[in-house]
Amino acid sequence: MSFAQLGLSDPILNAISDLDYAQPTEIQAKAIPLVLKGEDLIASAQTGTGKTASFVLPILHQLNNDEVVRARSIRALILVPTRELAKQVESSIQAYSQKLELSSLAIYGGTSVESDKQALAQGIDILVATPGRLLDMAYQRAVFFDDLAFLVLDEADKMLDMGFIEDIHNIIDRLPASRQSLLFSATLDGKVRHLADAVYPDAVEVKVAPKGQTPNIEQWMIAVDKDTKSSLLSHLIKENDWDQALIFVEKKHSAAKLVEQLGKRGIEADSIHAGRSQAQRERVWNDFKTAQLKFLVATGVAARGLDMPNLSRVVNYDLPYPAEEYIHRIGRTGRAGQSGEAISLVSKDDFKNLCMIESLLNQLLERREIEAFPVRKAVPISILNYHRR
Ligand code: AMP
Repeated sequence: MSFAQLGLSDPILNAISDLDYAQPTEIQAKAIPLVLKGEDLIASAQTGTGKTASFVLPILHQLNNDEVVRARSIRALILVPTRELAKQVESSIQAYSQKLELSSLAIYGGTSVESDKQALAQGIDILVATPGRLLDMAYQRAVFFDDLAFLVLDEADKMLDMGFIEDIHNIIDRLPASRQSLLFSATLDGKVRHLADAVYPDAVEVKVAPKGQTPNIEQWMIAVDKDTKSSLLSHLIKENDWDQALIFVEKKHSAAKLVEQLGKRGIEADSIHAGRSQAQRERVWNDFKTAQLKFLVATGVAARGLDMPNLSRVVNYDLPYPAEEYIHRIGRTGRAGQSGEAISLVSKDDFKNLCMIESLLNQLLERREIEAFPVRKAVPISILNYHRR
């Protein structure tokens, strides 16, 4: 399936090709044709699956040849829970609409009300907003909804968790009934289902699960410079009071080195790798299984085939290659319904590996930052559908 087959217009296809997107992600392939047909849609898709383009592209297509926006009016509204997401969605809109003459704007709390009012004065094609700020603008008659044709609730579950339900209903009550409505959420149960049933009674439902979905394993990554990796790991172990961790490295000499570096910081660890005898490996492994040893550094090869207990935590000190190895590694935690954690330390050199892993997962890994460890060499955000060239 290609983007061209989805029926999007040339200016949009050109913008996508400038971004190097090879083909639609699963949510895009499923959602775009339905939105282009004018269906209301509720979709379960996590952040990182390419969900933003799955609603922005077909909306751009439909707004494309339409009339000019009137003063203080908007034609499409995207409601989001946080200012970060507002900025991110708006910058995606900018990228996807670079060959079109459409305007977009993000408004959110904590910034000047006056400058938002001014920005809205001439009318905006696509407005991204957090609920509180949007209502503020509506109360002050800085924005009118009569020309609105599209509503998107993005990360609806998060908006409800943050207590925006009344604001959302208040906003929806002000919108024309003849609009097209879309809802995206990581989950479609509980409160979200309730909202969807009330607001989107005739919506088509679309689901995409991240591949190798492991709901009870919390997966996250930290971007890190190579030369601060071992001190970052020590910091994580100490600050978070980790009980145990299986720490994967790629090469046997890095295993021995890391054990030494941890030791210098007062963290007792041991290793298994191809350079150690069978007897040594068995002893170390048994110590780890019985929790006498808390931190085990292992190469993927040496750890293969060992009968793993349920672990609370797996660390990818080095990212594995090939990407499938990532799934095997993290599968050693979160077994039998227990919760687990998989943490990857990613430096700029690992970027291609990261792209391959995230493409395989069909999802970006959540990124966390540790204040004491700012990165000098930033790790870019992956594009999904990455293919090794
Ligand atoms: P999102 O889930 O919308 O936050 O998107 C996650 C990431 O995937 C963003 O960095 C997008 O630029 C990227 N992305 C979205 N669609 C595609 C695609 N079809 N091919 C490659 N990367 C994509």
